[in-house]
Amino acid sequence: MLYKYKDIDRHVEIDCDVCVVGSGAGGAVASKELAEAGLNVVLVEEGGYFTTKDFKVDDTIWSTSNLYRDGGASIIMGKPSVMLSEGRCVGGSTTINGAMCWRTPGKVFKRWQWERGLYDITTNNMEPYFTKVEETIHAKSILPEAKNQDSELLRLGAEKLGYRYRANIRSQDHCVGANMCITGCPTGAKHSTLVNYIPAFLNHGGELFTNCRVHRVKTKRGKVTGVTGWFVDPQTKEKKYKLTVKSPIVIVSGGAVQTPALLKKSGIRDEKSLLGKNLLVHPNMKVVAAFEEAVNAWQGVNQGYQITEFQEEGLLMGVNFTSPGVLALAMPLEGNQMLRVLKKEFHHLVMGGALIEDTGSGTVYVGPFDTVVPTYQLNEHDFRQCIRGAALLTEVFFAAGAKKCYLPFTGMHEIRSPDDIPKIFQLKLKPAELELLTVHVMGTVPMGSQAHNSVLNSYGAFHNVKGLYVADASVFPTSIGVNPQVTIMALATRTAEYIANRST
Ligand SMILES: Cc1cc2nc3c(=O)[nH]c(=O)nc-3n(C[C@H](O)[C@H](O)[C@H](O)COP(=O)(O)OP(=O)(O)OC[C@H]3O[C@@H](n4cnc5c(N)ncnc54)[C@H](O)[C@@H]3O)c2cc1C
Repeated sequence: MLYKYKDIDRHVEIDCDVCVVGSGAGGAVASKELAEAGLNVVLVEEGGYFTTKDFKVDDTIWSTSNLYRDGGASIIMGKPSVMLSEGRCVGGSTTINGAMCWRTPGKVFKRWQWERGLYDITTNNMEPYFTKVEETIHAKSILPEAKNQDSELLRLGAEKLGYRYRANIRSQDHCVGANMCITGCPTGAKHSTLVNYIPAFLNHGGELFTNCRVHRVKTKRGKVTGVTGWFVDPQTKEKKYKLTVKSPIVIVSGGAVQTPALLKKSGIRDEKSLLGKNLLVHPNMKVVAAFEEAVNAWQGVNQGYQITEFQEEGLLMGVNFTSPGVLALAMPLEGNQMLRVLKKEFHHLVMGGALIEDTGSGTVYVGPFDTVVPTYQLNEHDFRQCIRGAALLTEVFFAAGAKKCYLPFTGMHEIRSPDDIPKIFQLKLKPAELELLTVHVMGTVPMGSQAHNSVLNSYGAFHNVKGLYVADASVFPTSIGVNPQVTIMALATRTAEYIANRST
């Protein structure tokens, strides 16, 4: 049963077998698997419920205000601060993500084994969970005709330089290349959890409460007992009615910033105070290139390819073109200068991103009045990787024929020739002068074999609170260096199977 805000006219009290907080990559998957296993599941989502027909073509303002937290521009404080975009709606960030699918690289699982004692999470053991997820979200290659020209330019540049690349696998069926993945797919081709796991969850008798922010996870004598939250009026943002869920099992799946914040506010503590630390962000450097001919990168699906040549070294590169507003955020220009470039060059622009597998980390703090304050410290290694990523992208774009590139550095906005790339390294750049974005937060409630090196066991269960689990990107002990949705979903499937086996 689906409850929208308008369906709630009083305080609600409900009992269930499992309560799940958050309906994104982790929460929707865990909820569906458990409801399918016959458990009585209540799923609580802070954001609203929207469907394909609500997703408006060319209305970034509607999308950012209804589907994203903080209008898509949350800030992770630091030097530099990092702009974070994440979903706050049914389907969570999967409703607004780019649909790219990657299995966790084997080297990452190996690291988790030898650093954290996670011996039971291996490429072989995870195979059935990956397969199940990929089948459910229709992970496959996109139709050649759906790809857009900026993807082809990335491929061309990579080929000219002899760099390896891969044609992306994406969670979609019959994608026609509307290129609106991140504002809500208007054709339903994208298989976010909104269009597969959530309907299946409801069909299996699950109860979904929307527009309800969970404020506390309740525990008594080392056991979880449920959650409390408030239904919030989507227009006025006023707290209206209270939700009380009594449940012997709670799975928190609010994403790697909100999950540790909720747990901390609830008074949950772990042996070594690791909760909320180890915030990982896959810092993303954007380079915008201008080509002589019109590219019309807004047509066709972006991110057709990713350059994998430097993946082992922690760098993955791709192109992703979006609306003018989002593009403007990625360029180091302001005011009239920005307006002039967008007016004159919009159809000629290509935006590339370098994803850094980070080795530094941050912390999620909670402040007064339900505020959440994430912080991040870019370390020297990752700072160098950011500069290298920008330089490599610039090289690829010039190889593909770009006439100039806009760089994400204060003090060096554009270069017009590949011969100028070495000048990047002459700049006395400081970390605070980089413009960084992230759409991948991870790592704040890490798994491990022991309470002295982790908060959760390998199934996402708290070492020290019975019945309390996490199933979202928070559980990663380290960065994974690739787009994370499939890893989150596969681990959530495994967590749900573990809970179902112990409960039924
Ligand atoms: C623009 C964008 C593009 C991306 N592109 C890709 C891509 O191409 N491929 C890929 O693999 N990944 C991509 N990602 C990342 C991927 O979508 C996320 O890593 C993944 O969805 C995170 O899953 P999660 O379960 O941790 O959190 P989310 O999916 O973010 O879900 C968390 C949910 O919990 C809810 N919530 C939080 N706190 C509370 C609370 N207290 N009470 C109730 N509900 C709460 C939130 O509203 C949200 O709906 C992208 C992300 C974005 C934003």
